[in-house]
Amino acid sequence: MLIDTHCHLDAAEFDADRQAVLARAQAAGVRRIVIPAVGRRNFQTVRDLAWAWPGGRYALGIHPLCVAEAQASDLAALETCLMNWRDDPRLVAIGEIGLDFFVPARSGPAARSRQEQVYAAQLALARRFGLPVLLHGRRSQDTLLKYLRRQPPIGGIAHAFNGSFQQARQFLGLGFALGMGGALTFDRALQIRRLAAQLPASALVLETDAPDMAPAWLGRDDQGRRAPARNEPAEIARIAACLAALRASPTDAVIAQCAENAQRVLPRLAGE
Ligand code: ZN
Repeated sequence: MLIDTHCHLDAAEFDADRQAVLARAQAAGVRRIVIPAVGRRNFQTVRDLAWAWPGGRYALGIHPLCVAEAQASDLAALETCLMNWRDDPRLVAIGEIGLDFFVPARSGPAARSRQEQVYAAQLALARRFGLPVLLHGRRSQDTLLKYLRRQPPIGGIAHAFNGSFQQARQFLGLGFALGMGGALTFDRALQIRRLAAQLPASALVLETDAPDMAPAWLGRDDQGRRAPARNEPAEIARIAACLAALRASPTDAVIAQCAENAQRVLPRLAGE
């Protein structure tokens, strides 16, 4: 069973042909798609989308790059949605949350401390509601880990993981799996490919991050030049094959193991 553990299916890029995108995912063998929220404005949308397709699941949270425009009332809105929807079997995690220190305009000292506050508050909500988290981290893995260690483990997924082996081992020790997607399809992504090849099989889950993170084969025009491309959940099948090749394992076995891992770290994925 293919599981796309991270897909922004609500993105405007899919407005024109969302049904066709889902039909292609289904045809490619994708049986679950986790749709993370990025802020208050799409809480209801991701929930509606998760219920519009049998394999749809969703997460609720405030993305670190959306923290700047978020108000204190947005955290309150998140808490209210969690109270109202806590028993919804399709709500599988708190996410997408985390810290992004890559975008300079959003990571000055004040912006960083605001990101950290909102991240910590959402970890507390995750603990209170008994949900795992979907983490976004850029240039911030150690700080993400620091906050995770302050409370009993909640686990989840370090999405688009791009840290070191040492950081990977720390996430694993805290009950996380590491999200692997389009990045590993690029020959030059040496560090991610080494992680994908050498981490234990129990550590990895598959994700597209669609419409972003297009795999290598999509980002080219007819002439082989780099071109902007839209990623979509059906690509997870070929990404899985690429991961299997890096690990010198059969694709079916890698797909099965990644699905098992996803259901371990996001237990509600295992339900009907
Ligand atoms: Zn994302």
